[in-house]
Amino acid sequence: MPNALEQLLLPAECLLCRGLLSFADADRTVCPVCRHRWRPVLPPWCERCGQPEPLFGGCRLCADWPATLRRVRSAVWLEGGAREAVHALKYAGRARLADDLAAAMSGAMLRGWDDAVLVPVPLGPARLRQRGYNQSERLAQALGRRWKRSVVDLLVRVRDTGTQTALTPAARRANVAGAFETRNVERGTRNGRPGECSAFRVPSSALEQPLILVDDVFTTGSTLAEAARALERAGVITVLAVTFSRAVLPDFS
Ligand SMILES: [Zn+2]
Ligand SMILES: [Zn+2]
Repeated sequence: MPNALEQLLLPAECLLCRGLLSFADADRTVCPVCRHRWRPVLPPWCERCGQPEPLFGGCRLCADWPATLRRVRSAVWLEGGAREAVHALKYAGRARLADDLAAAMSGAMLRGWDDAVLVPVPLGPARLRQRGYNQSERLAQALGRRWKRSVVDLLVRVRDTGTQTALTPAARRANVAGAFETRNVERGTRNGRPGECSAFRVPSSALEQPLILVDDVFTTGSTLAEAARALERAGVITVLAVTFSRAVLPDFS
């Protein structure tokens, strides 16, 4: 966030369109015009996964998820301006965008879980080196400031999973299987040393504490489901998740 002197000397620009931010928006990173291009995901939706309700029958998107993963919500659809925002956050180094993306996420329907802590979905070691930061961790930190909740870096991605974009749901699930482990907090294990990550135990007092996974994009939920499986193995009972955006799914039926 720019300090007062910088704000006087350099009028702030929208990180997406480079338009000047008005004085009222000087502490934001995205202008109102760009923010209005983000189309909110709205109910009616599947109560569990937040996907718009199918016309007939039950929701198939979340049918195979682990029982631990109770509720997932996304702020906006991944299209147009929101796609540009995610791209800028991930690939253009504009980590400060996380503040305004988290502002959009903070309205997601995850109320009533006041004791929950936030857990970013980790990047694999190669991606993290390449990007220099984990965009999901930035989102979690920004959301944690808004929701006044702590952020715990509990998961590690033990291998890079490659791009998921062109895969069917079944292939996505196979692609991320076993990708996450819980961090051994006692030994302070870092990303990239998977052999030391398996001994983590959630303190028994925290087993009933809900965790909220934070990620930038929801496509089929396979990544969140796999992260929830790793937490389930560590003894966690309740996992929720919130993402900034949700892909408009192709019809795989
Ligand atoms: Zn703008
Ligand atoms: Zn569902």
